[in-house]
Amino acid sequence: MSHFDAAILGGGIIGCTLARSLASKGMKIAVVDRDAPGQEASSAAAGMLSPSAEAEKGSPLFALCRASLQRYGPLAAELKSETEIDPQYRAEGTLLLFESEQERQTMLPSIEWQRSQGIPIQELSQQELRECEPRLADPVGGFYLPEDHQIDNRRLMQALVQSCRQRGVEFVLGRNVLEVECNSHSVTGVILENDRLAAARVVNTAGAWAARIRVPGLAPAPIRPVKGHIVALESAEEPFQHVVRSHRVYMVPRRGGRVIVGSTMEEVGFDKTPRAGPITRLLRAAQELCPILEQSKVADVWAGLRPAAPDGLPLLGPTALEGYFVALGHFRNGILLAPITAEILSGWLLRGESPLPTDALLPRRFAQFLCG
Ligand SMILES: Cc1cc2nc3c(=O)[nH]c(=O)nc-3n(C[C@H](O)[C@H](O)[C@H](O)COP(=O)(O)OP(=O)(O)OC[C@H]3O[C@@H](n4cnc5c(N)ncnc54)[C@H](O)[C@@H]3O)c2cc1C
Repeated sequence: MSHFDAAILGGGIIGCTLARSLASKGMKIAVVDRDAPGQEASSAAAGMLSPSAEAEKGSPLFALCRASLQRYGPLAAELKSETEIDPQYRAEGTLLLFESEQERQTMLPSIEWQRSQGIPIQELSQQELRECEPRLADPVGGFYLPEDHQIDNRRLMQALVQSCRQRGVEFVLGRNVLEVECNSHSVTGVILENDRLAAARVVNTAGAWAARIRVPGLAPAPIRPVKGHIVALESAEEPFQHVVRSHRVYMVPRRGGRVIVGSTMEEVGFDKTPRAGPITRLLRAAQELCPILEQSKVADVWAGLRPAAPDGLPLLGPTALEGYFVALGHFRNGILLAPITAEILSGWLLRGESPLPTDALLPRRFAQFLCG
């Protein structure tokens, strides 16, 4: 039986970005997934890289999101040259629209806090918005967030998987992980259905399903699914260039006329069935912001499950069981946070420390990771 330096449980964007990083440092890595890689939240996402629009005043996540964004340009360029798959990283920026003065007021605390940290956010009048994106209906006004970008997350996943393979990562696919295996003091591998795999370290990156993987001595990971619907529209031309967001909907333009319209936040367990009500509401909001979309083709609809922790922050790092690590709970920002997560977890696995100050994100803040 092969023996791996590390087994990564879950081949979404978090698992694959980490696998690529560890393999490039010479580690022998297995990524285990019950399906093909990237079929869950990492494909369901809209691909916004949005530190500013998602920012909450004072959140420890903001600096991490910005650090991760800075790594995206180089990562996309590397992946394109290694794999010839262009993940279409786009830096036109984001328009955050408000439809009333009251909405503007709710946005201001975060905007002013970010400006005080040097983020060049600009307020745009109705006229300026019209000049910027002529096909939008007239909202009251908005903010231009120049440092909120986007990437085609499905192309990104394809490129990551190919790059992992080129770096020697072994994908063990169609295999459900049941349990982390350990001796009296540390990890020895993972137990799959009808099989086992030996590994000196194990990282749980199983997204919304993380709690289903049993770990001797530890209670289940505190992760729950939060459902989000998406509608993909297609038009002959690109209706706008920027990512457009309001409090009701976001619209992410892809090259060639596709627009990703999202999303909802629903606490309905593991149900991923697309439902008529949320889709209708998203389409109505999108058409009100951009009437030309009324004529576009509905190319696809889907729903995915965001992995959420009780405090809304990721869990990154070691646990009470030696050799067992988690990279979980990326919630609404897992695409954005993947590069920095890979860096942080690589630091833990290779050197026993995080390369950045991430104490607020250590798993030990939850009791189940304290009691060995
Ligand atoms: C509708 C929607 C829109 C979103 N938009 C954005 C966005 O614009 N920007 C952004 O940054 N983030 C966005 N997100 C969030 C982002 O998609 C997630 O945070 C991120 O994809 C989580 O990645 P992951 O690798 O942890 O999980 P996943 O991509 O869900 O991967 C987990 C993997 O683990 C595998 N797995 C689970 N259990 C087992 C097991 N027992 N055995 C074997 N394999 C297992 C699954 O098959 C899956 O492949 C969005 C999410 C949704 C749902």
